Amino acid sequence: MTTSEVSDEDFQEILAQTRHFVRTAVIPREQEILASDRVPDDLREQAKKMGLFGYAIPQEWGGLGLDLSQDVELAMELGYTSLALRSMFGTNNGIAGQVLVGFGTDEQKARWLEPMATGDVVASFALTEPGAGSNPSGLRTKAVRQGDDWVITGQKRFITNAPTADLFVVFARSRPADADGAGIAVFLVPADTAGVQVGAKDAKMGQEGAWTADVSFDDVRVPAQALVGGSEDIGYRAAMISLARGRVHIAALAVGAAQRALDESVAYAATATQGGTPIGDFQLVQAMLADQQTGVMAGRALVRDTARQWVRGEDRRVAPSAAKLFCTEMAGDVADLAVQIHGGSGYMREVPVERIYRDVRLLRLYEGTSEIQRLIIGSNLVKTAQKERS
Ligand SMILES: Cc1cc2nc3c(=O)[nH]c(=O)nc-3n(C[C@H](O)[C@H](O)[C@H](O)COP(=O)(O)OP(=O)(O)OC[C@H]3O[C@@H](n4cnc5c(N)ncnc54)[C@H](O)[C@@H]3O)c2cc1C
Repeated sequence: MTTSEVSDEDFQEILAQTRHFVRTAVIPREQEILASDRVPDDLREQAKKMGLFGYAIPQEWGGLGLDLSQDVELAMELGYTSLALRSMFGTNNGIAGQVLVGFGTDEQKARWLEPMATGDVVASFALTEPGAGSNPSGLRTKAVRQGDDWVITGQKRFITNAPTADLFVVFARSRPADADGAGIAVFLVPADTAGVQVGAKDAKMGQEGAWTADVSFDDVRVPAQALVGGSEDIGYRAAMISLARGRVHIAALAVGAAQRALDESVAYAATATQGGTPIGDFQLVQAMLADQQTGVMAGRALVRDTARQWVRGEDRRVAPSAAKLFCTEMAGDVADLAVQIHGGSGYMREVPVERIYRDVRLLRLYEGTSEIQRLIIGSNLVKTAQKERS
């Protein structure tokens, strides 16, 4: 079953083009991306032309219109190279874009989604604050109604693509949490609005070429039409649903990165020698390869099954968290083994597995840490059992 606007045949073409782009245009530039801490402009332009800034945005609004089952296949290809490439258009398709796709008014969609799909507008998702990361319901950014306007004040941190963003999708408290909800609304704030300030680019452990920064909002005035969906009660639900969908995508990205680490490991083991013997002939090295292969296969199967369950509406709570938990931890283990298989070379900057080891570390942290995924899985299982008993 497919819910997608894109036929299987057309999708296979998109997938093949993406694979070709990743393998022939991006992989040869990985060192350049790492050393310059930026994705070169010509690769950005090529990604724009291919529609990659809007692959998950519906066709009605100018995107390619892939559903989540197709999204994960694409993500497994994108994960095969520097994760900065995917990050460049990840917020438009994912956490920021899906808030608009799922909850925006037609007027808001018409204004923003088409330029996001072409890549002329970069949107950032601004939820996290100091002290409100794993628990965003504790966020302190405030939105106060003044006549027809809203005035937003607060601090966000670690915001992906903030240094290049044209639009911030900003979560802010419009009233205290009460029995009716979390009191969190979400607003569309153009980056050039007076009072919006983007901090210096963060110095990160990995994913060179993908940028994050603090963003501060100092009495930022936006019109009533900036309130997503025209309702104050949408924000928290929009964040949770967008993040749950994003977790399936991140799981797929992890599988792609793990596959690359495995392929690099096999190629190295087959050719590098010790005492004239290829290290791949040693059974202890073969055991590491076997564990990598098994992890990748299990991750890929889990991601595909989870995406299928999402598009059928069967499970949008437990499965996304289980897939993200398993696949991102698996990618960490596979990358660690890849460094081990490469010996001392695996610790050297020019070697792909060294980059992968650092790139994938982030996947266990953002869009919900592994601990938060465990809490979501466990609490939902118990709640369901309790409901069935009452
Ligand atoms: C490179 C990067 C890009 C990011 N991009 C974005 C973005 O675009 N937009 C955005 O809004 N945010 C973004 N984030 C923020 C990211 O989602 C948060 O960093 C993440 O959710 C963790 O929150 P925290 O950093 O506040 O850590 P904390 O929540 O303080 O977590 C610290 C530790 O405590 C654990 N912990 C916390 N609460 C519990 C609990 N209840 N039970 C058990 N353990 C717990 C965590 O699992 C973790 O091990 C990004 C972060 C990074 C590093």
